[in-house]
Amino acid sequence: MMLSGSRRTVLKGIARGLTLAGMGGAAALLVKRADGQVVWQIDAAKCLNSRFGEVGVKACNLCTSECVVSQSAVRAVNEFSKCGRCNICPAYFNVKSAVGRDGLPSEKLCPRDAIARKPIGDADPNDLANNFYEYVIDEKKCDGCGKCVMACKEPAGLGSVQLRVRHDLCVNCNKCAISTSCPKDALVSIGLGEALNPFREGGRAE
Ligand code: SF4
Ligand code: SF4
Ligand code: SF4
Repeated sequence: MMLSGSRRTVLKGIARGLTLAGMGGAAALLVKRADGQVVWQIDAAKCLNSRFGEVGVKACNLCTSECVVSQSAVRAVNEFSKCGRCNICPAYFNVKSAVGRDGLPSEKLCPRDAIARKPIGDADPNDLANNFYEYVIDEKKCDGCGKCVMACKEPAGLGSVQLRVRHDLCVNCNKCAISTSCPKDALVSIGLGEALNPFREGGRAE
């Protein structure tokens, strides 16, 4: 961690102010930044939690602990076009927990209860396993700990959940504090237009 205590305090103050500004402020900030600005983003193909081939290892939570923003400017997002809408989603359930009477794992995976599970359409009570579910991440609760991202990865999941720097929260540090700690050099500085495309092709280790 390269920042002095006073700089961290100032940046946290700015970040809180931005959060309080709400969606209107966030939208204005994005417009202001759209003028060719370069921003920080996570390369999913490099991040330990989303890159293929990293299985059976603990999720990396440095995006939570190292970001200068309170609760982190990094949050998990689920791209619905890639999500399998599984009955037993390994990012939602702790699949190692005991199975309940309903046939589902009894515990959730997210330590902040930031993922909601909603049936799509009318659930068939006689064939619950064949229903489809939408998994929605509450970004206000999420702190980017990466557990769900690690769990969603193939072969257990389809890799639809990834970590992203949210540009309405990020204070765009000159040298991103996470980048100095990331073990996979996954923080990249790219144009805002590209960063706003939340799911560039990727996810496979090079
Ligand atoms: S620090 Fe790097 S490896 Fe760890 S979660 Fe963040 S981007 Fe992924
Ligand atoms: S990144 Fe962590 S806090 Fe956020 S939804 Fe996933 S498990 Fe929950
Ligand atoms: S640049 Fe990095 S450390 Fe700074 S607020 Fe953004 S994500 Fe956090």
